[in-house]
Amino acid sequence: MKVLFLAIASLLLFSCSQNKSDIDKALQSINEAELETIIKTLASDEFEGRAPYSEGERKTINYLKNKFENLGLKPVNGDSYFQEIELVELISSAPSIMTISGEKGKVELDHANEFVAQTRHITDKIIVQNAEFVFAGYGIVAPEYNWNDYEHLDVKDKFVIVMVNDPGYHSQDSTLFTGNAMTYYGRWRYKYEEAARQGAAGIFVVHETGAAGYPWTVVRNGWTGPEFYLKTENGNKDRAEIEGWFNLEKTREIFRLAGYDFDAELDKAKTPGYKGLELGLKSSLSISNQIIESTSNNVLAKLEGSERPDEYLVYMGHWDHLGIDTTLEGDQIYNGARDNAAGIASILEIAEAFTTLPEKPKRSIIFFATAVEEQGLLGSSYYVKNPLVPLNKTVAAINIDGPNVFGRTKDITLVGYGQSELDKYVKKAAREHGRYIHADPTPEKGFYYRSDHFTFALAGVPAIYLKAGIKHVSKPESYMQDQLAKWTAEYYHLTNDEYDPEWWNLAGLVEPRRIGGRYPTSNGNWSRIEH
Ligand SMILES: [Zn+2]
Repeated sequence: MKVLFLAIASLLLFSCSQNKSDIDKALQSINEAELETIIKTLASDEFEGRAPYSEGERKTINYLKNKFENLGLKPVNGDSYFQEIELVELISSAPSIMTISGEKGKVELDHANEFVAQTRHITDKIIVQNAEFVFAGYGIVAPEYNWNDYEHLDVKDKFVIVMVNDPGYHSQDSTLFTGNAMTYYGRWRYKYEEAARQGAAGIFVVHETGAAGYPWTVVRNGWTGPEFYLKTENGNKDRAEIEGWFNLEKTREIFRLAGYDFDAELDKAKTPGYKGLELGLKSSLSISNQIIESTSNNVLAKLEGSERPDEYLVYMGHWDHLGIDTTLEGDQIYNGARDNAAGIASILEIAEAFTTLPEKPKRSIIFFATAVEEQGLLGSSYYVKNPLVPLNKTVAAINIDGPNVFGRTKDITLVGYGQSELDKYVKKAAREHGRYIHADPTPEKGFYYRSDHFTFALAGVPAIYLKAGIKHVSKPESYMQDQLAKWTAEYYHLTNDEYDPEWWNLAGLVEPRRIGGRYPTSNGNWSRIEH
């Protein structure tokens, strides 16, 4: 994967005079031993899970600064390698039980196990009293798909329940939205924004593992701890007061109480013209906040270009992870080894390779370790609002998050294929290295919207997100998919995301250059695009 990244850069940036043996030499500086050292260090307990505004942050950003300095890279923010981000940390306490009442009785939901609720309003306490419940299908207003789930509903000051993902996914109809592939409308992030525009008091997204792309544990861990937000002038008063999730089982119970069958309603909701439901149920919810102002830091360094130094290519990956949870039994540290110590190690190794080249690339290259990604892509969002080099001179952003740690593959996955003109460079580079690319095999999980390149894409910068291939060079056919599925189910955002020399194999990160292509192409089981 590394070579591919470098190769992409070489296609974009190197002059023809850049000698192939020089490039090969630079590539050799990318090696497993160095990657392992960096991953082990950043994912060690000493770095405390790299939470924003923690001792773990201080250690991490200083480690990165030293690495950049030692490579002879220059700061991007004046004479500083850091870009400070003003944050507000909200520690919300939701009630342990949420009670939803109707004429025929009530349903009680257990906090963390069956519902989560937070507020983004930067205020001590939010109280929503006796708000009615409305089911608004997928909670999507998408004129380009001729879709408006709110058209027939008044949700002002009410609680809205919406299903995660989009109608294309649930119908598997390729003419509806983008079929199985999740659109941005499928993401909770969008659904929360839309509910706020509609004036809802609160919104609950219904979780289902397949449709969300991850199990409930990810919701529970993501929505029950302290939450960071960018400091805003309006204190986030433009957001719905309450943002949360319901699990599927309880949602079915809530609908039964209202006299409806949730699955039948969902079935109707995926067809155009669905009008939504007034459920005839009510609930009150109050959430108190502890408000802590804090900061975190993006870390950026650059290698000045030789011909067009004021144009930039960005390699990015987030340095932060989930920190420590002292309420857990046993292991309390979220080490984040694959997510994303491995990505940072990749970027540092790529940076080293570039500095090893005798000739500098034509354009400048920025190496960007983003902050607070895990809390909603905040570091990269802050950056695109406060860019240190002009965004219209930023030709491309290449994001590395959770890279391939399961060995060498014949292919490479281009998440969000078709979203950017950079696709063609990836194809070229892959071909040069005897590999082929394919689109994300699980586009329904919405990975394109789940890491920092997406904030660059939203700001108009061509941005790509490359992931592990799915065809291992020597293991059985399903090996890579099995490892990736296992990792998502048992390691993603859990404390056991640790460096594992028994399981991991970093050879896929240092894939040697193979001129001419040695491996056969895919048998077409997956949506291979081209080889
Ligand atoms: Zn990540």
